[in-house]
Amino acid sequence: MTEARLEHLAIAVQDLDAALAFYRDALGLAVQRVEDVPQEGVRVAFLPLGESHIELVQPTRDDTGIARWMSKHGGGMHHVCLGVSNLEAVLARLAGAGVELINPTPVVRADGTRYAFIHPRSAFGVLVELYEKPASAK
Ligand code: ZN
Repeated sequence: MTEARLEHLAIAVQDLDAALAFYRDALGLAVQRVEDVPQEGVRVAFLPLGESHIELVQPTRDDTGIARWMSKHGGGMHHVCLGVSNLEAVLARLAGAGVELINPTPVVRADGTRYAFIHPRSAFGVLVELYEKPASAK
């Protein structure tokens, strides 16, 4: 069995400020922080929801996966992220089950967080991200 929790839901938006006018101002959700991530070509707002959060993601370049996805879909629910504590073991289990992995090995962020995406073809139409925080942040 894989123990997992909902880490975040990512919603792709064309205009982060317009999206905040809905999610923050109209709906009334708190915004923890807004961050520019130039190396990933996105601007992200983090809206805590209990133990998990919503990420509003605005592409800032045209050459990223999320920007290409937006040019087809216009925006909307982009991926579901599950937090796990043993990412390698989960990836090995998935590979053994014939699941199509976009990242067969984890990608490591500057803060030590590791993640990998499962292709929507293998996850019934949903892009699924798996996420493991560094040991110090658990
Ligand atoms: Zn994510």
